[in-house]
Amino acid sequence: MNIHEYQAKELLRGFAVPVPKGKPAFSVEEAVKAAEELGGPVWVVKAQIHAGGRGKGGGVKVVKSIADVRKEAERMLGMTLVTHQTGPHGRLVRRLYIEDGSAIERELYLSALVDRATSRISFIASTEGGMDIEEVAHKTPEKISAFQVEPAVGYSGYLGRDIAGALKLTGDAAKQCGQLIEGLYRAFIAKDMSLLEINPLVLTKDGRLVCLDAKVNFDDNALFRHKDIQALRDLDEEDPKEVEASKFDLSYIKLDGSIGCMVNGAGLAMATMDIIKLYGEEPANFLDVGGGASKEKVTAAFKIIVSDPNVKGILVNIFGGIMKCDIIAEGIVAAAKEVALNVPLVVRLEGTNVELGKKILAESGLPIVSGDDLADAAQKIVKAVKGS
Ligand code: ADP
Ligand code: MG
Repeated sequence: MNIHEYQAKELLRGFAVPVPKGKPAFSVEEAVKAAEELGGPVWVVKAQIHAGGRGKGGGVKVVKSIADVRKEAERMLGMTLVTHQTGPHGRLVRRLYIEDGSAIERELYLSALVDRATSRISFIASTEGGMDIEEVAHKTPEKISAFQVEPAVGYSGYLGRDIAGALKLTGDAAKQCGQLIEGLYRAFIAKDMSLLEINPLVLTKDGRLVCLDAKVNFDDNALFRHKDIQALRDLDEEDPKEVEASKFDLSYIKLDGSIGCMVNGAGLAMATMDIIKLYGEEPANFLDVGGGASKEKVTAAFKIIVSDPNVKGILVNIFGGIMKCDIIAEGIVAAAKEVALNVPLVVRLEGTNVELGKKILAESGLPIVSGDDLADAAQKIVKAVKGS
């Protein structure tokens, strides 16, 4: 799960991590009020969307008067902000963050993440902050350093000193760096984060180390123990079909193709997407209904698939292992009737009670095409879609 910058900064404040003063705003009037309360003389108006690269896209503006805060708030609220992370459709800006402007001496990069290769939490540090870190990694990899945290030890002073060294911080700034790393590490562990990225971390002209941006991802598998984090979820930032799917515990990712897929098991879902591409079409989604798909789940999955206007055909590929094929077939028939299906549907069933399942489909009176195996089913749905 992702949260907004202003929420991440509020969270970090609770761990004594230095962030500028700021206030969220949902309207122009709130933005002006926030700016008045902050007092200036420099403010930053920041669009709050779950994507980075806002600065380059016109979603971060440094201003020097309340009148300009108003002007920028009017411009940004309701705009569709396109950045290299939003895709070409961009994101609608519904929230702003009004923040104290910092006098920047240097912009640095700092992040913490779960490093699968070492099974450790790693800190990544670079003197090249404020810019696209992927580009730095590509062009000047020697400017990026990684530091693993030994889990049995946790934070210790040498980690802070090492990172300060990589960031070329000395004296008091190096000391602040140690405290900062300690706070970030505590926040990371306490809140079960999977990514914490500060880009930029800045050294101000008066020698303070401050986090000017904050991006946080949480481990979804640990969310159940963080009600406070769950409350920060912003459904506006998520695809409505994915939100609907999550209610039914379906793993659904919307894609851009024309063939809707309903599959049980993530591996089989991936294979199904691959084979659709092999035969010359593109999947409209990834959808794993899980091992114990009930009739209700199958119906919900169908509704989500057909609500996508790009879907020109549906391929159901179910392996009846724990589930029996006849139960699945009944679910499919009920769902197809309920959603008034008007696109071709190819179903491939395999496993327990497969003959009975196929009989139910054949006798349903619905124009359901049965696939004998994965290749046959994929070819049939691709042909049906291309023909329509
Ligand atoms: P994004 O990464 O989405 O572009 P950032 O929050 O990193 O957004 O802001 C982009 C740039 O704007 C920063 O690199 C920094 O130069 C400037 N900036 C952001 N916040 C402030 C601030 N509070 N004071 C001064 N400059 C800021
Ligand atoms: Mg940034």
